[in-house]
Amino acid sequence: MRLSKENIAYKKITILGMKKSGYSAALLASKFGATIFISDSKKDEIVCQNYEKLKKAGMQCEINGHTDKIYDSNLWIVSPGIPKNANVIKKAIKLRIPIISEIEFASRFTKHPIIAVTGSNGKSTTVHMVNEMLSTNEWKPILAGNIGNPFSKSVLDLLNGDLEGNIFVLELSSFQLEFIDQFHPFISIYLNISPDHLDRHKNMDEYLKMKLKMIKNTDKNDFIIYNLDDKILNNSFNESIANKIPYSLNQKNKFFSLNSTKLYDENYDTLISLDDILLNGKHNLSNFIASATAAKLLNVKNKKIKKTMELFTGIKHRLQFVKSIKGSSYFNDSKATNISSVIAAINSFNSPIILLLGGQNKDSDFRLLLPHTKRHVKHIVSFGEAGGEIATAFGDAVRLNITSSLNQAVASAHKIANPGDIILMSPGCASFDEFKNFEDRGEKFIKMVKALK
Ligand code: ADP
Repeated sequence: MRLSKENIAYKKITILGMKKSGYSAALLASKFGATIFISDSKKDEIVCQNYEKLKKAGMQCEINGHTDKIYDSNLWIVSPGIPKNANVIKKAIKLRIPIISEIEFASRFTKHPIIAVTGSNGKSTTVHMVNEMLSTNEWKPILAGNIGNPFSKSVLDLLNGDLEGNIFVLELSSFQLEFIDQFHPFISIYLNISPDHLDRHKNMDEYLKMKLKMIKNTDKNDFIIYNLDDKILNNSFNESIANKIPYSLNQKNKFFSLNSTKLYDENYDTLISLDDILLNGKHNLSNFIASATAAKLLNVKNKKIKKTMELFTGIKHRLQFVKSIKGSSYFNDSKATNISSVIAAINSFNSPIILLLGGQNKDSDFRLLLPHTKRHVKHIVSFGEAGGEIATAFGDAVRLNITSSLNQAVASAHKIANPGDIILMSPGCASFDEFKNFEDRGEKFIKMVKALK
């Protein structure tokens, strides 16, 4: 389906979802004169606010349910919140209405190269690393996508002259990749694939299939950077004709490799000593290597790559140091909403850990944590809706007590902590049983810790 600045004016477009990405797609589409109808099944605070703004801008919209007007359309743009097996989507497919994602839509209106980052864990961290490394005289990166800044908004701001930049760094979730058609990144980065969101994707095959849509259009002029240490990824790209650059923590890589004391370059010269990297965790070294590989392909100097690694202290709610109390250190890893990220967190420390685990379960198998908790997790405090299930999964393998809320979990951990312990809130669950989202959970955790005596 052709969609360009020239022919969009003749289109009747339905946009499904009125949160950030649907709202931004509506503004982008309206710039080119399309007739737009935006519909959302919900009517929460954000939806209501956006509804008012769109109405004021003269657009037709509806909230609190979809009417049949959504089907009077030549094109649907769907927000990532709407699953592809939703009844409305099934009906639109039956009616042969073309459906694209917000990412696909925005990509039609920019010619800037795109670096697209996906994976189960580490996307936000990695796009920030890439963004820093590319901030040079030559490159002005624009960070967008799943990090909370819709691609459509950045494309529109760029077109309006409200934003400067010459390359996009996009964080993409599997949900954003469901309706991809011509989207074409120059560099694709695959960090890892582990079970996540299986409540929405039927199984791992389906989840991987979705992730691989990102490279549907990559050709011999493009690059795929992928993590060779990941069992699923290491044979996922055999059929792609793109330039493939695997990276690993355990093998010699094309540009940057790791040994026990440093990262070194292709000539075996030291890039950086590990002592000069502030960020915790081997998984972050892996993220650094992936980011540096992309930067290197874009001719960024080693000096800049090194500087980024020295200065980068991570992003909020990802293994974020909060406070030391009587010699024990509290870490906020609220963004760890699946088992693999909890494993990465546990393996980032050598001191005894009191692990705060809980929230709303996403069909995770907590027993997968067992081999990792053995070494130095001395106690688990489970909390929230999944608290009981977690206790059952561990049995008597680890000392554990169940609490009903995060607040109680913090108080309980505080009581048993000894000097030198790490109190790690790496919940391995969604937050919605007790909090608005993972940010809210992280902020409240920080407050709770700061209030401890
Ligand atoms: P995403 O955007 O993919 O959710 P984040 O960078 O926000 O990733 O990190 C989410 C969680 O995963 C955090 O707990 C973080 O410490 C952890 N994490 C980051 N990178 C990796 C990685 N490469 N492997 C496993 N876990 C990771």
